[in-house]
Amino acid sequence: MTTPKELKARVLEDAPRFGPDDRFRFSCHPDVPCFNHCCANINIFLTPYDVLRLKRRLGITSNEFLDKYAVVPFNKEIKQPVPLLRMRGDEGKTCQFVGEQGCTVYEDRPWACRMYPLGMAAPRDEDTQGQRFYFLLEEDHCKGFEEGREYAVSDWIRDQGIEEYDRAGELFRPITLHPFFESGDMSPAKMDMFFMASYNLDRFRRFVFESTLLDKFVVEPEIVEAIKTDDFELMKFAFRWLRFTLGFEDTMKLNPALEAERREEHAFFQKAKE
Ligand code: SF4
Ligand code: SF4
Repeated sequence: MTTPKELKARVLEDAPRFGPDDRFRFSCHPDVPCFNHCCANINIFLTPYDVLRLKRRLGITSNEFLDKYAVVPFNKEIKQPVPLLRMRGDEGKTCQFVGEQGCTVYEDRPWACRMYPLGMAAPRDEDTQGQRFYFLLEEDHCKGFEEGREYAVSDWIRDQGIEEYDRAGELFRPITLHPFFESGDMSPAKMDMFFMASYNLDRFRRFVFESTLLDKFVVEPEIVEAIKTDDFELMKFAFRWLRFTLGFEDTMKLNPALEAERREEHAFFQKAKE
């Protein structure tokens, strides 16, 4: 199996770069001889919105979803914890969601499954300045390229319901691409906080309402009300909170009473030092 690092190197060096108007021929349906073969032994990285959609689809909490359906690889090279879809423990390592008729969570399948056979890259090099491009993942076992209709990349994105996922992804991108993660020295506490706010929304909701967070910061009443039940609003608030708490931007406003208290405390200690 190709590792993500090998795939990245291959794509950046060799793959033809596609824009929205470029076209490709592809079709996937139950009559292809390889039907369901690709839903096994594969690394599917989950986005925060993937987790939100899947846990809602299954009617379980994000914690239960992560426990049962995800695995979070961890080693020294990993700068950001990202969950992967957990495959079954059978010989073929099949996806837990694959059934005889195909994907059993089709309407809520992850971004990467929707995109296939397209991939997307946004290299941070000088030539492209982070501009995204698409590429075709032509794999030998996939017979979908041998027939079917022709698509423009933009048609594929629309037909597969990717736009909604991309809108959620755009909210997360400024966090994941922040140079902060390049240093690779995130403390375990910050790592846990990042993971909770990004992927474990139900735990984050408990944190918001059961900690002193809402006393410490000024949060608009309509947002407080919305995040009690609306997962998408909670996800947006989690990203806002992460940008503040990781020190990227002043996206949260401290409670003025608390700020005055802090200033007094600071002045007191300054005076004591003199
Ligand atoms: S989530 Fe669905 S489409 Fe994606 S690998 Fe699993 S079965 Fe296949
Ligand atoms: S290998 Fe290709 S054609 Fe076959 S089921 Fe998977 S995506 Fe469809």
